[in-house]
Amino acid sequence: MLLSGDDGTVKRVAFYGKGGIGKSTIAANLSAALAERGLRVMQVGCDPKADSTLTGEGGRLPTVLDVLRRKREGVTLEDIVFPGYRGVLCVECGGPTPGVGCAGRGIIAAFEKLDELGAVDAYRPDVIVYDVLGDVVCGGFAMPLREGYAREVYIVTSGERMSLFAAHNIARAVEQFRGRGYARLRGIVFNAKGVPDEERYLEEALPELGAEVVCRLPRDPVVQRCEERGVTVIEGAPDSELADRFRRLAGIVWSGG
Ligand code: ADP
Ligand code: MG
Repeated sequence: MLLSGDDGTVKRVAFYGKGGIGKSTIAANLSAALAERGLRVMQVGCDPKADSTLTGEGGRLPTVLDVLRRKREGVTLEDIVFPGYRGVLCVECGGPTPGVGCAGRGIIAAFEKLDELGAVDAYRPDVIVYDVLGDVVCGGFAMPLREGYAREVYIVTSGERMSLFAAHNIARAVEQFRGRGYARLRGIVFNAKGVPDEERYLEEALPELGAEVVCRLPRDPVVQRCEERGVTVIEGAPDSELADRFRRLAGIVWSGG
C-alpha cells in the first residue's frame, strides 16, 4: 500500500479531537505554515463533514466518496486531489449517504482508493496531515492510527469537559494500537474556547492523557475573519500573532518524531 507503506521518509501526523474543537482550522493552518517552509504537504480530511480545507470561494471540494459514487470506473488522482495555497495537496475523504452507510467505512474506502492510485508515489509529499474526527474512535476513525498511515498523533482539545472526554478516548485508542508498533501520541494542542477555568481543567486532565501540551492557541476572532474569506490565517493574516503560533506549531511538528 503506497499511502501506508512508503520508505519511511514521509512525515505522517494526525490531528484528532472532538467535533468543532478546531482540528480543521489547525490542520489547514499547519499545512499552510509547513508549505511556507517550502515543504510539500498533503492534507487529508477524514471527517464526514468534509470541511478540512478552505477553498477560497467558500465551496467544498469534491470528496473521494462523492467521486466514487458518481464515477465507479476510471477515477484518477486529479479527480480527488486538489492543489491549494502554496501547492498544499488537499483531499477530502467525505462521508456516506446519511442514514445509509458507515462513516468509518467511508474513510477506509477513501484510503484504499488513494493507495490504489499511488497518491504518495505520484506526489512525493514531505508531510501528510490527517484531520480526523475523534468523537468516536471506531475501526474506521482509527484507520489513520493503524497500518502506518499516521505515525504521530496530536490531540486537539479545549478545557471543556466534553472535549477532554473525547481526548481521553483518543489517547486510549492510540494506546490500544501502540503495542503493535503503530502511531504514538506526540502531544496535546490546546485550542482555547474562552470558558472559565479551562486551563485548570486541562492541567488536571494531563496526567491521564499521558502527553504534554506542545502548543497553546488563544481564541482569536481573526480565525473567523479569515474563514469568511475562505483562507487560512497564514494566508489572510500573515502578520498576526496567531499566524506566528501556527508557524511555531509547524516547527514543532516538523522537528518532532
Ligand atoms: P473541527 O474541525 O474540529 O470540527 P473547526 O476547525 O471546523 O473544528 O472549528 C470550528 C469553529 O471554531 C470554526 O468556525 C472556527 O472558525 C472556530 N475556531 C477554531 N479555532 C478557533 C480559535 N483559536 N479562535 C477562534 N475561532 C476558532
Ligand atoms: Mg473539521
